[in-house]
Amino acid sequence: MDDSLGLALYQEMLRGEKVALLRWDLKTDRMTCDEAMAALFPQAVRYENYSSFLRQWPSLHPNDRKWFLGLLEFLGKPHPEYADGQKEHIIDFRLRDQSGEYRWLHARQIIHFEGTRPYFVTMMIRNTDSEHKKQEELRVKAERDPLTGLYNKGHSREVIGEALAVPDTKKALLVLDMDGFKKVNDNLGHLFGDAVISDMALSLADVFESSDILGRMGGDEFVVLMRDAESCEAITARCERLREELRRSFEYGDGLSLKVSGSIGIALSPEHGTDYDELFARADAALYEAKKRGRDTQVFYSPEIEASQRKVAEDDPSHQQRQSLLERPVEFIFRMLYETGNARTTVKTLLALFAKYFMVQRVVIYQDISGSWDCWFEWRTGGVLPTAEAHSGLALDFINGNYRQEIYGCFSECSDTAAVEGEMGEALQQKGIFAFLHAGIMNGSRRIGCVGFDDCRGPRVWTKKEHEVLKTFADILGTFLMDQMRYDMVRKGYWRLQRILDSLHRKIWVISAENGRVFFMNRRTRQALARRGEEERSCHKIATDSNRPCARCRFSHEGGNCPVARRLRCMAEERGFKPAEIEWSEKAQGLLYIEDVPV
Ligand code: GH3
Ligand code: MG
Repeated sequence: MDDSLGLALYQEMLRGEKVALLRWDLKTDRMTCDEAMAALFPQAVRYENYSSFLRQWPSLHPNDRKWFLGLLEFLGKPHPEYADGQKEHIIDFRLRDQSGEYRWLHARQIIHFEGTRPYFVTMMIRNTDSEHKKQEELRVKAERDPLTGLYNKGHSREVIGEALAVPDTKKALLVLDMDGFKKVNDNLGHLFGDAVISDMALSLADVFESSDILGRMGGDEFVVLMRDAESCEAITARCERLREELRRSFEYGDGLSLKVSGSIGIALSPEHGTDYDELFARADAALYEAKKRGRDTQVFYSPEIEASQRKVAEDDPSHQQRQSLLERPVEFIFRMLYETGNARTTVKTLLALFAKYFMVQRVVIYQDISGSWDCWFEWRTGGVLPTAEAHSGLALDFINGNYRQEIYGCFSECSDTAAVEGEMGEALQQKGIFAFLHAGIMNGSRRIGCVGFDDCRGPRVWTKKEHEVLKTFADILGTFLMDQMRYDMVRKGYWRLQRILDSLHRKIWVISAENGRVFFMNRRTRQALARRGEEERSCHKIATDSNRPCARCRFSHEGGNCPVARRLRCMAEERGFKPAEIEWSEKAQGLLYIEDVPV
């Protein structure tokens, strides 16, 4: 086979691709390469004794040398399984460039065999450094908590799960939570709070071994897996050291100060569980017990703790309420709205409930009234701006302009308004809105209102559950309240009309075309019938004093031949009344009887 032709053919095929090509003849141990190779990796270009060059390639990353040594070993032996054939071999490796930095490369080698012996190798080398770095960045992003650099919740679960699956040593899972941390945020600001959280992570790294696994679960909660937890005394000693470090006092304002500390719950593996979820739930139960015992302490899990907590939770009516709100929101909201019978009070109660469950400081319902947003209901904690003040100007413009159709519904949301650029971001921050999640109340594709949560304490990531529950709330409440509003309007209109009709010196009544029953009477008609002692409402009874309907009654005027109409006219005449009209009314879909009453 002609070396240069083979290479030229590859070069031709790969023209324009960012790859370097080389061909290594194993018999002569000579390498030939294309210009791209020479341009990209000048230090890697060596033509004679190529195997000995690869063996101590000086710019190769020390950890990657083994791949090439492995290749050389493979090439030095016969391989009957590939006789007269080819074998593909891939190596990802790092090479130091002229600036001294290592770059990732990807080499695809095809080993050609003559008989059972490797004969020559073609290599295609691609610079994959930026791809590798991007992937690495993504991996770190997916695994790490950005504030502390510790593993995030998802990845902690994964690596701790893996460690627990190896039953080599006794292990301890610790769940830690800062005591009184909210006050830091409230009085010293969220940024200061962030600094305290980062500091807490440093203390953890200080106290525990580098082989232990540290993760942040979110907020001020952390998890630690101690890999070598032989005795409870040793675990207690670590916890005490950590609590010592976490115990802090911060001064603010005029002589004011606040204290923070840490509480720890501990579960042991294998005694209390061997998988992550089980162990975490138990350590969490122990943490709850530590909080209950006054905080700044550590508690080891025991079955009694769990049993007493289960009992308390089951006995607590709000526990069941909370379960059903989160698990069956549709049912829960409907039940509350219909059982109480008072929509306004129920809505207010629901808003307060939502605020408590989702730890938000403001919940609002807006309605679009002829193009302007009207705050229909609001609930807010003390200390936050009134909604009318907070949801105004640029802040309101941003919220309203930010609606997007998501899988779960139409939402306007922001996890951190500090990240909103320009005046709008500043406006939101000034109004104390640090994160918000608003769900549109929709009428088809038109937004006719919204239900929204504001977090006025700091940024937060809105969970899927929060989206779902808010959307359900928007749908049900929207439909319910819209119907209620329409009903209120109709009732109000009807009531006004009734007052007008009642005030006329006329008896007005309408007989249904469907069943001959009187379905409307004004006050004077009611008075007249009451005087006559006629409670009956069917027209034949009122008009003809008969218990049976007229034989030909169809309740249509039929050219004025309706017996009811005739009878009514007669009756009026007999009594000396002059009915102004007895006629079929399209609008009322019935027979309209109007009789003037002498003043
Ligand atoms: P407890 O003693 O019962 O633990 O109460 P606590 O005051 O420590 O408050 P808790 O643990 O219930 O709540 C933690 C708070 O941390 C709630 C949330 O506002 C805040 N928070 C959550 N994530 C962050 C964050 O990334 N940065 C800051 N600064 N605060 C956060
Ligand atoms: Mg806390």
